[in-house]
Amino acid sequence: MQVTVPSASEAIRALKAKGYLLHKSYGPVRLTTRGARKAEELAERFSILRQFLVDVLKVSPPTADQEACEIEHVVGPDTLTRLNAYLVFLMQCGQDTARLTQHFHEFLENYLAGEACPDCGVTPATLKMDSASGS
Ligand SMILES: [Zn+2]
Repeated sequence: MQVTVPSASEAIRALKAKGYLLHKSYGPVRLTTRGARKAEELAERFSILRQFLVDVLKVSPPTADQEACEIEHVVGPDTLTRLNAYLVFLMQCGQDTARLTQHFHEFLENYLAGEACPDCGVTPATLKMDSASGS
């Protein structure tokens, strides 16, 4: 990520206004306790989102880094908790979730290529029709 000087000082001003930073003109920038807690929270949010993007959705790591960084600022705590629950479920449930994820990855590859999944036969066209008629 590129950070220009004006955008950096704007960011510092905004973070100071929220009570996250201690900063006097031209002095060092320090995190307040509140700021450190927020940074920790964002780092955790980032790692959950990044893991979901990379491990489940197979988003390329550079794209996942960038997009997790953007999503972490807007996703609500309830959605994030549910997303984390899904990751924990996939990793720890022990009831064939590895096979399910593997199937999904095979499905995803075919879906992105516009092909039917050779395992279950579901096609991208079927999904588009379903989402148009449903919800
Ligand atoms: Zn399938």
